Amino acid sequence: MDHFNYAQGILHAEDVPIPEIAAAVGTPFYVYSTATLLRHYRLFDEALDGIDHLVCYAMKAAGNQAILKTLAAAGAGMDVVSAGEYARARAAGVPGDKIVFSGVGKTEAEMRTALEGGIRQFNVESEPEMEALNRVALSLGVSAPITIRVNPDVDAKTHAKIATGKSENKFGIPISRARDVYAQAARLDGIDVVGIDVHIGSQLTELEPFELAYAKVAELTEVLRADGHDIRRLDLGGGLGIPYTRANTAPPLPVEYGAMIKRTLGHLGCEIEIEPGRLIAGNAGLLVASVIYLKSGEDRDFLILDAAMNDLIRPAMYDAHHDIVPVEEPAAGIEQRAFDVVGPVCETGDTFARQRMLPPVLPGALVAFRSAGAYGAVMASEYNARPLIPEVLVKDDQFAVIRPRPTIDEMINRDSLPEWL
Ligand SMILES: *Cc1c(COP(=O)(O)O)cnc(C)c1O
Repeated sequence: MDHFNYAQGILHAEDVPIPEIAAAVGTPFYVYSTATLLRHYRLFDEALDGIDHLVCYAMKAAGNQAILKTLAAAGAGMDVVSAGEYARARAAGVPGDKIVFSGVGKTEAEMRTALEGGIRQFNVESEPEMEALNRVALSLGVSAPITIRVNPDVDAKTHAKIATGKSENKFGIPISRARDVYAQAARLDGIDVVGIDVHIGSQLTELEPFELAYAKVAELTEVLRADGHDIRRLDLGGGLGIPYTRANTAPPLPVEYGAMIKRTLGHLGCEIEIEPGRLIAGNAGLLVASVIYLKSGEDRDFLILDAAMNDLIRPAMYDAHHDIVPVEEPAAGIEQRAFDVVGPVCETGDTFARQRMLPPVLPGALVAFRSAGAYGAVMASEYNARPLIPEVLVKDDQFAVIRPRPTIDEMINRDSLPEWL
């Protein structure tokens, strides 16, 4: 569910008409709904009611300071994957003891930053990383709280580029070697083992792969406890999918996910952490663009927008589908036509949709990509010297620019010339 609906024939973000924002900031732009962000965060929080838990928003999905601050104020922790994300979370007011640090390639400098600034735990992904963390912690005279990310070798049944829980993926240590690695961890004075971590992929639309993975974690918890480790926290990762098309049967709801967690792991008495990103931010954002041209090809028509793959890479990178709707509500029953929806970038991959049925739209019309809040703005680039597009946050009948569009001069002036030129 989201808060982008038609009222009086015009698409609104909460109570703000989209054309009003377009007039103020120009297209293309991203717009987020505060109500949707908070609703989705709370659904997860409530789904784990009754067990000690923390929802750590995976901020790589959408990392604008205003979004982080909105969620932090509601009580969210954060899952970060770089020193930059760590700094962003802290700047948004998230205390260190609500930040978990994930990722396969944490550097010693990043470890030091987090240990000095405060950290809930590191989710360690390899033995060399654990040894590095031990060295850094000892040099600071502290011990680093960790979970070890295990790779349960389950098929997440999602797009290959976002599956992370199969043995061929780079993530985690094989669950079959977990006992050895935990034994090694227990021998390191700079390491304090607090639990187990698992994250099997993104945009999962069934509970079964999660349940398979979590059952393996439950079993491992008992084995490690029998080995003498004080396993008191389970980080279950993120990955719950969202409906990218209205026609689709909806993926499981957070409440069903929470019930499954309680069923599979509740008896262990562990504190539970989850790291949802996409489900919190995905349907909380739109990408709004203008139609530049309608172009008739030999066997198809093209709708050329002012947004492009550099603004929203998901269709090019993951073959992702986004519903595209006109901001002016089409009349009921109006005839639709097939278009290839494309951007201006000089790449054939700059295609948002092929042979998409759309109601008539004229040049200058506004269209909105739904479900663009996660892995949208954060993955944007300035390819083709197209400035990063603005981000706007709506709350009730107010809106604010939360990242302005840079000017072309600002873009140019970021480069510097060597002396000899
Ligand atoms: C990307 C990622 C997440 C968030 O995944 P979503 O599918 O956006 O919920 C959580 N944890 C880790 C370790 C990740 O890499």
